[in-house]
Formats: sequence, C-alpha cells, structure tokens
Amino acid sequence: MRMNTKLNEYIEKLASTHQLSLDAYEYVITHRDEEAAEWLARKARDISQSIYGKSIYVRGLIEFTNICKNDCFYCGIRKDASCSRYRLDQEDILECCAEGYDLGFRTFVLQGGEDAYFNDARLCDIVSKIHTLYPDCAITLSVGERNKESYQRLFDAGASRYLLRHETADRNHYHKLHPSSMSFSHRMRCIQDLRDIGYDVGIGMMVQSPYQTAHHLAEDLKFVETFHPEMCGIGPYITAKDTPFHDQPSGSVELTLYLISILRLIYPPMLIPATTALGTLDPVGREKGVLAGANVVMPNLSPVGVRRKYQLYDNKICVGDESAQCRHCLENRMDRIGYTVVTDRGDIKLWD
Ligand code: SF4
Repeated sequence: MRMNTKLNEYIEKLASTHQLSLDAYEYVITHRDEEAAEWLARKARDISQSIYGKSIYVRGLIEFTNICKNDCFYCGIRKDASCSRYRLDQEDILECCAEGYDLGFRTFVLQGGEDAYFNDARLCDIVSKIHTLYPDCAITLSVGERNKESYQRLFDAGASRYLLRHETADRNHYHKLHPSSMSFSHRMRCIQDLRDIGYDVGIGMMVQSPYQTAHHLAEDLKFVETFHPEMCGIGPYITAKDTPFHDQPSGSVELTLYLISILRLIYPPMLIPATTALGTLDPVGREKGVLAGANVVMPNLSPVGVRRKYQLYDNKICVGDESAQCRHCLENRMDRIGYTVVTDRGDIKLWD
C-alpha cells in the first residue's frame, strides 16, 4: 500500500484486529482515497470468499403492506405520504412463497410498514403456515418495532430472522430523521430484544442521509463492531418525493461501497446485501457491492401489480419485472462477475 501512512496504519490494524477506535473510524472515512478503497475491496472480497466461496445468497422479498403508522422523514411510504396503499392477504403471500420456492428461494423476507392490521394473531398465522409448508426455508420478518412478547410469538411461530435497521447509531441524528413520537432508545431496545430471543438480527443504515456526518457513520461502524449483527444492510440514502427531505441530495455509491468493505473487515462472516438502493443509483451498483465484499442479493417476489406502490424512495428499480425475471437477471449479473447465486437458506457461517 502506498497511501497516507496514518490511513494505511488504521486499515491494516482493522484487517488484523477487526476493530478501531471511534476517532480512527472517522479518520478512515474522511481521509479515504481511491487506493485505500481498492485495497479494502480486495481484502473484503478475499475474506468473503474464504468464508462463502463465490456463492451469493438470495432472499425472496415479499413487500406485503405499504401501510405504516409512522412518519419517518426519509420514507416514501410514511403515514403522511400520498402514495396509494395496499395490503396483501394471506393467500397472496402464500402464492408469492410458492412461486419463490419453485424458483429456488429458501429464504422469504416478509417486509412491510408498521401496519396494525397485521397483529400477532394474523402475522403468526401467516408465519406458521409458511413454516409448515416450507420447513426447509428460513422466514425473515421486517415489520418494524413491536414489543418483546410479540417478537417472541413470531419466533415461536417459525420466524428465525428479523431485519430492523437502526438507521443511525447516534441519538441526536436519529431525532433529525424521525418525528418526536419515535424513540431511539426504543429502537435499540427492540434490536436487543430480538437478539435476546434468539433471532438472527439484521441492522442497517443509510449512507449520507440528511444531517449525517462522518462521526455518525463511525458510530454506526462501532455499533456493528460491538453488536456483531448477523446481517447489516447498507445502502445510499435516496431522496423520496412527498417527504420533508424531498429536496435533499441522495447519498454516494462510492462511499457506500467503501463502507461495505470496512464492514466485511469488522465482522467477516456478517451477511451483507448488495442493496436495491445501490442498483437504483448505479446500473451495476449491485455487482460493485459484491466486488466490495457483499454476499447477498434480495430479488423481489411481490406481485408486480403492487410493486410500484412500495416506493421507499424515488425511481426504485425492478418494479416492473416478474419474480422469475428478477431472479434470472440477478443470476446473470452475478455470473458476469464470476459469482453464483445458490439455492440455499443462506445462514451466517460462524467464525472465530
Ligand atoms: S421507514 Fe419504516 S417505519 Fe418509517 S415510515 Fe417508512 S415504513 Fe414506516
């Protein structure tokens, strides 16, 4: 490496110890250059391949409701947004799973807003039906904040993974992104509850969301380093119309890729998706994500008729493609960069 000596020192320390001080993380972010990014990406790829080979895990994403009681300032389906609303019923969801199973998916991700219609009874019923019909599949939920008893019931019904992006590990920044009715402490409590129950937990953050600084991102990295989530979703912030942030610029693909590589070094076995947000801002963003160290992609299994309505941000890709097209498109994309999409539950491989 021929980069800035201090940067070089920090990056090598990260590669060997998987940890840095908060100040060092901030330095690595603010002083990044092309050479450092390339070195980190190469290292991250090597680490990922040493654990997962050239296999890419897929998750079948079913966006089953865009109704939400919350008003997060960045979100295109927030309560006050004027988008047209929908909810899939149990039959629709099971049809998505049947189609997904035939296409080779062994993980279903049920994602939705915080929609009170899906109380514990309704959601547990759906989860347990999927679990009974497809015992070889993992069920992931991504339905926001609930109480611990609710998380426990859903776990007992057969869900074993839960995605709850923390969005930012900085309390003050959190309150700049959310209305006063939402609580940073509660979100973090939920994440801990999920871990305590035994879920594989996915956290995540946006890159360059409004008001975000390098210090905030360093706090996110520190949180990953101490919590060791099974998954971390990271994508560039993308502006959504009809939100208080409608005139804020979207985040950077380059910084997102850099952070993916750092995340791989912090916790080598962590499942890291190459997100749809990356593919939205860059036509080969997901490929670049994998080459930076990601090892998961999440094609859409939602019925095409509702996909346009689940616009968390503007110009989201893949809203017009059938599930089979999405899957094959991603298979081809991964194939072109030398990776293979596999039919597998895609569990984290433990590491020490
Ligand atoms: S980010 Fe999630 S919780 Fe917030 S408004 Fe959007 S769907 Fe609801």
